[in-house]
Amino acid sequence: MKRTMSRSIIALILAVAFLLGLGFLCYKYVCDSPMWASQTFNAYISSGKGLACAGTIYDRNGTVLAKSENGERVYNEDLSVRLATLHSVGDYSYNIATALQTTHRAELAGHNRIFGYGLPSSLGFSGDMTLTVDSVVCAKVYDAFGGRNGACFVYNYKTGEVLCMVSTPSYDPQNVPEEVPEGAYLNNAISSTYAPGSIFKIITTVAAIEYLPDWENITLNCDGEEDFGGDDVTCLEHHGEMDIYEAFARSCNIAFADLAAQVGAENMQKTAEKLGITESFNICSVNTAKGVYDVKNATLNELAWSGIGQHTDMTNPAQMAILCGAVASEGSAKLPTYIEGVSPKGNAELMSKETADIMAEIMRYTVRDYYGDSMFEGLTVGAKTGTAEVGEGKAPNGWIVGYSEDEDCPLAFAVVVEEGDYGFYSAGPIARIAMTECAKSLRGE
Ligand SMILES: [Zn+2]
Repeated sequence: MKRTMSRSIIALILAVAFLLGLGFLCYKYVCDSPMWASQTFNAYISSGKGLACAGTIYDRNGTVLAKSENGERVYNEDLSVRLATLHSVGDYSYNIATALQTTHRAELAGHNRIFGYGLPSSLGFSGDMTLTVDSVVCAKVYDAFGGRNGACFVYNYKTGEVLCMVSTPSYDPQNVPEEVPEGAYLNNAISSTYAPGSIFKIITTVAAIEYLPDWENITLNCDGEEDFGGDDVTCLEHHGEMDIYEAFARSCNIAFADLAAQVGAENMQKTAEKLGITESFNICSVNTAKGVYDVKNATLNELAWSGIGQHTDMTNPAQMAILCGAVASEGSAKLPTYIEGVSPKGNAELMSKETADIMAEIMRYTVRDYYGDSMFEGLTVGAKTGTAEVGEGKAPNGWIVGYSEDEDCPLAFAVVVEEGDYGFYSAGPIARIAMTECAKSLRGE
């Protein structure tokens, strides 16, 4: 009797363990199967053949960006649209890490969590997907780069939707060239970092607001050059005396070198880290490239240069757009998403409401009183340009970053043009097209 009893208990334990294991297997099968199915060892899609019968990719207006027809992948008929959306759509090679055809290849190929690839498309699992970008806006922005390299990123900081994501150089996914241009596999908007130059003055201003109690009454003085730790920091002009508002709007180097020195290395480092410069943000399962800010062992001169976006400073375009979104929305911006139905991964809480409101006032003052509101017709914009020295005999990178505060158009943007020289003249006109066209798209004009 005793022996039968203990055998029953062992049998019961084994049965329970079996059922638990089976349950776990089913759970993993359903949860992770798209990941297993999209592994490169899966010959069905690793050769690009999965795309031959993959679902259609649409933009936010229902325009077809890629579809499969008679066993071929066919892209939008407009060359500019194909070039402009390459980094969000992808090609057959899966070389572009941010492209939908790379990140969601299993779903596009009609993979179902329970039936795998076993279901006929007539049953409704067609694998169609929609991007949040407006392909017409992207094409206009792509053309505005005029063959120069760089990136443009515009997104709605309240919903997270990316309306414009363009990276150059690009290539035609319909007729992939034998030699892909160098750097074309990278989506510069998400995966690259650049020397920021004067757009970094946003970070230095935030640090001044938070760590210099009397920041509003500080008078800064510029004589065109000033000694910091034994070496000069130079400015393009003799700006004379000014407060922080004026110094920011006129983009005075001496003023911001001075502010960085007053804030000190430790608090500059803390601020850059808190604002997400050294962090990576998750956008549709892809991580943005981390920027660089490192003054832990910097000399006074290096600290001064770091406050104006030189030294070893690096920033990523999407990250800068998120930062501007936070300035425009009380310190906390929605993280971006460029796939419809994929929710943003929460919010980027970067600064207090008080700091954000002051920063927004300073950035808005810069556009209203210096750049001129005609630059972004019909929008209420705050922004900062940058011209970043990159050395190696190259012309500086041109930048502009900012946001619009209009209730029906809550957009944050970042544009960088490699070797563009002055940001105002190189990145500025591209930002103008991107912002006014994105506004039309949002307003349904
Ligand atoms: Zn100056």
